[in-house]
Amino acid sequence: MTNPLLAEWDTPFALAPFDAISDADFAPAFESALAEARAEIAAIADNPAPPTFANTVQALECAGKPLDRVLSVFFTLAGADSNPERQALQRDFGPKLAAYSSEIHGNAALFARIETLWAARDTLDLDPEQARLLMLTRRAFVRAGAALTGDAEARMRAIMARLAELGTAFTQNLLADEAGWRMELGEDDLDGLPEFVVETARAAGREAGCDAPVITLSRSLIVPFLQFSARRDLRKRAWEAWVSRGAGGGETDNRAIAAEVLALRAERAALLGYESFAAYKLETQMAGNPEAVRELLTAVWEPARAQAESDAATLTAMMRADGINGELEPWDWRYYAEKRRQAEHDLDEAAVKPYLSLDAMLAAAFDCAGRLFGLEFREIDAALYHPDCRAWEVTRDGRHVAVFIGDYFARASKRSGAWCSAMRGQARMPQVQGPVVINVCNFAKGDPALLSHDDARTLFHEFGHALHQMLSDVTYESLSGTSVARDFVELPSQLFEHWLEVPEVLDTHARHVESGAPMPAEMRDRVLAAANFDTGFQTVEYVASALVDLALHEGPPPDDVMARQSELLVGLGMPQAISMRHATPHFAHVFAGDGYSAGYYSYMWSEVMDADAFDSFVEAGGAFDPERAQALERHILSRGGTAEAADLYTAFRGRMPGVAALLKGRGLAA
Ligand SMILES: [Zn+2]
Repeated sequence: MTNPLLAEWDTPFALAPFDAISDADFAPAFESALAEARAEIAAIADNPAPPTFANTVQALECAGKPLDRVLSVFFTLAGADSNPERQALQRDFGPKLAAYSSEIHGNAALFARIETLWAARDTLDLDPEQARLLMLTRRAFVRAGAALTGDAEARMRAIMARLAELGTAFTQNLLADEAGWRMELGEDDLDGLPEFVVETARAAGREAGCDAPVITLSRSLIVPFLQFSARRDLRKRAWEAWVSRGAGGGETDNRAIAAEVLALRAERAALLGYESFAAYKLETQMAGNPEAVRELLTAVWEPARAQAESDAATLTAMMRADGINGELEPWDWRYYAEKRRQAEHDLDEAAVKPYLSLDAMLAAAFDCAGRLFGLEFREIDAALYHPDCRAWEVTRDGRHVAVFIGDYFARASKRSGAWCSAMRGQARMPQVQGPVVINVCNFAKGDPALLSHDDARTLFHEFGHALHQMLSDVTYESLSGTSVARDFVELPSQLFEHWLEVPEVLDTHARHVESGAPMPAEMRDRVLAAANFDTGFQTVEYVASALVDLALHEGPPPDDVMARQSELLVGLGMPQAISMRHATPHFAHVFAGDGYSAGYYSYMWSEVMDADAFDSFVEAGGAFDPERAQALERHILSRGGTAEAADLYTAFRGRMPGVAALLKGRGLAA
C-alpha cells in the first residue's frame, strides 16, 4: 500500500487525509521525501545548462514540495496533538532537517549559479516578485556564510557550533536555577493571597513533594505572589531570587556565557562583513538598522518613564498610608499596583465570561472579516486529527478562497500558547493552490465554552494571522502569507485585535449565553479600560530590556555584561522601583538562541504599527471604512513578503508609522 503522506490527496479541498495517516507512516515518508528533495537540489546544482532564473531560483522554490507536505502534517500534530512517538520523531527529524538546510547553503556549485544570476540581474527581465525571490534566495545563502572560503569558512563553522552549545547551556542553567529555588509558605505566610494563588502554590508544593504551599520561580506563580502577598519580607525574598536567576554564581551562572555569546556574534557579523551583529540582524527586518530601532524605542521610553514616575508617586503614597516608610522598592510595585487596580478598575471575570462564548466570538471574528473583506465562512465536515477541530470553507462572491481550521481547546497533548500556521500556503507555482490555515489555542473546554476577555483577544489575534494567510495573492509560496520580516508579522494579528474593542462589535456579538442580553455598557467600558492599566510600568520594563538587548549587540562586546547593563540603565534613567523585564543572565529570548537577539524590540515595533494602522481607519471615519479595508488587503494582506515591509506599509498608510497612536492608546500621551 502506498504511504498516505506521499500519495495524491483525493479529499475535499485536498486536505491531508488524517484518518488514513498513522504515526508509523511518518518516518518512511520523511526519509523518502528528504531523499527526493536532495536529488532535486543536486539536479539543480549540477545542471549542465547555464543558469537561468527558471532552472535555478524558481527550480529551488519548487523543489522539496513532497517534503513540505509531510512536514506540514507532522508539525501540525507535533504541536497540537503530540504523543511520545511523535516527540521521538521530532527529535529525530530536527537534526536531519538542520543538516539538509546547511547542505543546501554550503553547496558551492549551487551558490555559483545564484551568484551568476545575481550579477546579471538587471538583464534577466524579471518581474518584481521574481527579482525579490532572487534577492532573498541569494541573501539567505550569503547570510549563512556561503561566500566564505578557507579559514573564514572553518572559523564560521566553529563559531556556529560553539554558539549552539552556549545556547543550550544558557537554557539549562536557567531551568536549573528556576527548579532549584522554592519558598515554602506556612499558614501565617498566606496574608493577602487569593484562593487561586494558594491553590496553585499547593499544587506546586505537591509536585515538589511537600505538604505546604510553595512559591517557585515560574512566572505564572511568582507574578501573582508579588501582586497579592501582603508580606513585604516574603515579597522581597521572592523578588530577589527571581531577578538573580542565572547570576547566582557557581555552575549555573550565565554571565560568562552571555559575554562569550556576544563576542562570538560580533565575530560572526564581522566575518560576514557587517559593522555589528545588530546591523546583521536588522538587515532583514522592516526597521533595517539599529538607529531606526533606537529612535522608535526612545520616542516611547520618555513618555513611559514619565508615566511610571508619576505612578510611583501614587503607589508610594499608598505604601505610606500602610505605615511603611522608605522608598517604593521593585518588590512593592506589583502589590500596590494591584491594590490600585482593584480600587479603580475592578472587574469580575466570572461575570464577563458568559458574554464571551467561543461561538459568539468566532461569529464576531467572521462577521468582521465579512464586513471588511467580503469573506464568508461555511462550516464543513472534514476528517481532521482531533474531534475538537472544526473547519470552514472561506469564500468570496461564491469563489473558493481558503479552508480555515480552528482547534481551540486545551488538552494534555497540545503545547501551551496559541498560534497560527498554514498547513498549505497560498501559491500559483508550481501549481495554483489555495491556503489551508489553522488557528490553535488553549481555551478551557466547556459546554458552552466561555472565554475571558484575554482569550477573546487571543482568538482575534490568531485570526488576524489567518487573514494574512487566507488573503495572500502571490506567485511563490515562500513569499506568501506570513512569510515576512519578524517585526512586520505581528501587524495583521495585532491590528485585528482592535476590532474587538469596537463598541458595535461587542454590542452585536457579546451577548449573554443564556439570556441573549447584550453586555452592559458599563461592563464593556471596564473591560476595555482594564487592558490599559499600569502601562507606564509595563512599557518601562519592556523597553529597558529591548534597549539593553540592542546596545549589547553593537560596538565592542563587553567583558562584563552586568557592568555594561548597569551603565546602560543608568544612562536611560531607569526608575528605581522597576527592573528590566528580562535581565541579561536570564534573557532567554536573546541568549538561548538567535531568534530575538537584537530583536526583542519587535513586539513594540509591531504595536506602534498596529496602533498607527488602526488609527487610519478611525481618521477615515470608522473601523469598517471600505476604502481602508481595501487598501489593507491590497497593500499588506495580499502581498506577503513580495516587497519590503516598509514599502508595503507606506503604500497603505502614505507614510511610515509614527508613535502618536500607540502613546495615546496606552494612555502615555503628554
Ligand atoms: Zn502573533
